[in-house]
Amino acid sequence: MRPERLNLLFAEADTLEGVGPKLRKPLDKLGLTRIRDLAYHLPDRFVTRRAIENLDEGSEGEQIVVALTPIEHRAPRNNRGPYRVLAQDAPGNVCALTYFGRASYTAKKLLPVGEKRWVAGRLDRYGDMLQIVHPDHVEQEGGAALGTLVEPVYPLAEGLTQPKVTGLARQALERVPDLPEWIEPGVMAKHGWPAWRDALVLAHRAPHAEARDRLAYDELFANSLALMLVKAANRRKRGQPLRGDGSLRDRLRLPFPLTGAQSRSISEIEGDLAQGAPMLRLLQGDVGAGKTIVALEAMLVAVEAGAQAALLAPTEILARQHYETLRELAAATGVQIALLTGRDKGKARESILMGLVDGSIDLVVGTHAIFQESVAYRNLGLVVIDEQHRFGVSQRLMLTRKGKLTPHTLAMTATPIPRTLTLAQYGEMEVSRLDEMPPGRKPIVTRVVALDRIEDVVSGIARHLETGQQAFWVCPMVHENEREDLAAAEARFAALKARFGDAVVLVHGQQKPEVKDAAMERFVSGEAKLMVATTVIEVGVDVPNATLVIVEQAEHFGLAQLHQLRGRVGRGSQQAVCLLLRSPAISETARRRLALMRETQDGFRIAEEDLELRGAGEILGTRQSGDSPFRIAQPEQIKHLLPIAHDDARLLVDRDGGLSGERGEAARLLLYLFERDWGVQLLRGG
Ligand code: ADP
Ligand code: MG
Repeated sequence: MRPERLNLLFAEADTLEGVGPKLRKPLDKLGLTRIRDLAYHLPDRFVTRRAIENLDEGSEGEQIVVALTPIEHRAPRNNRGPYRVLAQDAPGNVCALTYFGRASYTAKKLLPVGEKRWVAGRLDRYGDMLQIVHPDHVEQEGGAALGTLVEPVYPLAEGLTQPKVTGLARQALERVPDLPEWIEPGVMAKHGWPAWRDALVLAHRAPHAEARDRLAYDELFANSLALMLVKAANRRKRGQPLRGDGSLRDRLRLPFPLTGAQSRSISEIEGDLAQGAPMLRLLQGDVGAGKTIVALEAMLVAVEAGAQAALLAPTEILARQHYETLRELAAATGVQIALLTGRDKGKARESILMGLVDGSIDLVVGTHAIFQESVAYRNLGLVVIDEQHRFGVSQRLMLTRKGKLTPHTLAMTATPIPRTLTLAQYGEMEVSRLDEMPPGRKPIVTRVVALDRIEDVVSGIARHLETGQQAFWVCPMVHENEREDLAAAEARFAALKARFGDAVVLVHGQQKPEVKDAAMERFVSGEAKLMVATTVIEVGVDVPNATLVIVEQAEHFGLAQLHQLRGRVGRGSQQAVCLLLRSPAISETARRRLALMRETQDGFRIAEEDLELRGAGEILGTRQSGDSPFRIAQPEQIKHLLPIAHDDARLLVDRDGGLSGERGEAARLLLYLFERDWGVQLLRGG
């Protein structure tokens, strides 16, 4: 239960004055649903404006305030063009006030011809004409005062204006209560940080590095603290030491020697399994790095020690594929392996459940069905979670609550995460890294192609499919309205189907599971040759014959995600190709990001640079795996404040593990504030 003193902060945003159904949509889009969110919706930057009397006094790129009189409205010739209002200053210099999209309605109302208005915005040049694009303010009176203010510039969504957000933020701040301090006084003093409430107020008012850092630190500290509590709770749990005698592993006949990184990871895992406290370890490695073998070896250790092991996959298809791979690899060992998914019903399911209870099944592979209430194990010693990032920390916690003794956990992920963020996302775990690829992999050829060459690309696909190989076509999810995206993916599907007929399948997140699985299976089995998918295409599923991946509007994807999509091909012996189709006009940063994809295939490097290169708001759509879990803390702040926050959190947990002292109590509030309250719940569980 959230402490009462936070209730005001968690009240809905529409309890604020002036928030009706119309504002709800843009606010939701920005994630601003509660007072707390608005209080934390910090300005991107601030502008200082200069009031000028004559347009000649302003320089290009300068923020100005000037009195202008509209002389003519120019509607666009087609519906893509901007709406322009020509306006002149006192001496008669003309400037265009330019509006795109729906903003033109506002222009019509705000700028009647012949009536003087104070206009504030950035003075630019368009051809040989001066212009202000989307003025920040258009006022009838008192405009000169605008020239003396430092104004916040907030991230916006369509349907919101700067003054509107400024007003809402101000109202929200008025409701923010004082809270007891959770930061160590020494740390506060050393950095010169203001108290929490003051920091919020200051951060909205003007550029204020200390206030910003303090708020970022809070977020980082909350995260570290929650993970630390998980780690501490785990250490208090009783697990069973598992020591294998090697008898099963000796019988494994692998068709290749292990890489150094694989051997190292396996010994790290063996070391953990032998301990009394349950293992919590993350195995990180690019797609194709060979995580499955490592998982198998770990599971065999458990079986050798007389326990059972479970492998959890995020999807049915992936579970099935793992099951088949493991059966083949482990055939010579004689271990009993079963597959259990939500699809199994009746007798077949009963017999698997029996086998798990009586211990005749050593190793079970499945979806979350393997952790349902009704599934009991004789002695579950190890849980392996594949594609870990699909599961949040709170889910991770649930999964390991089977059995009297807590099973050891090995989590695996192919999502490259920058080093700085590993601590933040998996701080409660030890990490093993497969930073070495099995030998003999051919690099994937990566090309960036402009979307207007789509005809060539389609002809290329035709040639590709003729050789008997398969391909993925990935469409982005970029609109605020998911339907538009589906419409786009469906249109693409229809177009490709017109060309390639039944060889094309469509897979997206809104399909019924049966429909989606059926389409996936047609592709995995090789019956279908081309899969059109939104970004949801299954992680980790092996289609050795798929050697071409095309990503449409690649500039909308995060690098980590592009890297994963690319990893979908290039698993067989054939040369694999990745085509990044970009829109005709993309930003400088977007261009650099795509260029980086061409330059390297090192997932860890890509993850590092992604964090740096990602302009706020540049990448649309929902949060992506591998993203920063932070909303307040920026990359720079994460880099220098996260290690400090992490140490401070450890100190607090060491001193007051129950968070019952004065600072501990305050820190509990912080955990709720940043919705890391699963940390608090662990405390209660003991
Ligand atoms: P991922 O890390 O993506 O789960 P997999 O475990 O599926 O990777 O391995 C990818 C491919 O590489 C598989 O075909 C596997 O048999 C092969 N492989 C794994 N380890 C080695 C190795 N040491 N040498 C050669 N091939 C390997
Ligand atoms: Mg895998």
